[in-house]
Amino acid sequence: NHQVLLVEKPAGKLGPEHFKLIDGPMPAPKDGEALLRVRYISLDAANRAWMHGATYRSAVEANSVMAGGGIAEVVSSHSDALKPGDIVFGDTGWQNYAAVPVKHLTKMPRMEPLTHLLSIYGIAGLTAYFGLLDVGKPKQGETVVVSAAAGSVGSIVGQIAKLKGCRVVGIAGGADKCQWLTSELGFDAAVDYKDGAVFKALKAAAPDGIDVYFDNVGGDILEAVLPQMNLNGRIACCGAISQYDGAPSATGPRGVPGLIVVKRLTMQGFIVMDYMKQRDQALSDLQSWVSSGKIKVLEDVINGIENTPQALIGLLAGENRGKRMVKV
Ligand code: NDP
Repeated sequence: NHQVLLVEKPAGKLGPEHFKLIDGPMPAPKDGEALLRVRYISLDAANRAWMHGATYRSAVEANSVMAGGGIAEVVSSHSDALKPGDIVFGDTGWQNYAAVPVKHLTKMPRMEPLTHLLSIYGIAGLTAYFGLLDVGKPKQGETVVVSAAAGSVGSIVGQIAKLKGCRVVGIAGGADKCQWLTSELGFDAAVDYKDGAVFKALKAAAPDGIDVYFDNVGGDILEAVLPQMNLNGRIACCGAISQYDGAPSATGPRGVPGLIVVKRLTMQGFIVMDYMKQRDQALSDLQSWVSSGKIKVLEDVINGIENTPQALIGLLAGENRGKRMVKV
């Protein structure tokens, strides 16, 4: 059973030295658990955030199998709720085989390709759907800005906002990614934040101001967006990837609350797990948009469990377009 251990929590930037690949024991499932063969491991910006401490889940600890979501096949089950051959999503960790309590697993349909269960029909698609539609509440004709726009969540947010009739501006790193957002994904404009002068470029890309900001990154980009928000604008706080990889930055909100007052802004955080009761409606909408070609499914699949550490390091550095995962 190949397992990737987090051997040390990083104090600064995450590197390969923080992980170790071992040939570990085959897990023995206890009562109420299922033995799983992991098929695809999801790489998420949040994997890095978990190393800072407890959030909406407990912190990951050094010298244990690195935590992470995955799609897996049930090998054997000590519970009536699952049977061998079933496909499930859960925190399998970075390993070939895992024993996981059945109550922590979500049974998924067996579909082709299975990768869609991590991208459009998985956490990424649901986060984009609920974060944009329930928190951002975009109306036809409004301007929607999304950061980490070429990533798994951001690329779906932009496409949904387009089909709701909005002007969509993506913020991403690099001219190539920005070009791709407008030519392949139908974004109206894109801003390369690595090219400096984000405030000015954003002003040019969103001349009528910003009604909805889907924030995946926090930090300097949020600071550049805030003064450009329109009256009664909404900011859907999805994540803050600019703050994950390294020591936390010392800067705080300073003038931010004032801007929120004057513009009557709503800034709302959300966690996708809180929406699971409404999952079926979201999946049915996403399915119809995919089958009618209104949404392109973007996946970045890397082979081999030994490449999982580098896949996460690369995701934090912006290597990926769409949903990054490792085929085990
Ligand atoms: P992505 O696929 O979006 O990949 C991360 C992207 O972030 C990279 O491709 C990179 O692209 C960009 N990025 C990295 N560093 C920075 C930086 N300093 N400033 C700006 N952009 C940066 O990853 P995920 O889909 O896993 O995560 C996207 C966001 O969604 C994260 O904030 C995550 O925490 C959040 N999330 C929240 C959930 C919730 O329930 N609230 C659920 C799932 C995800 P580039 O080349 O453009 O820099």
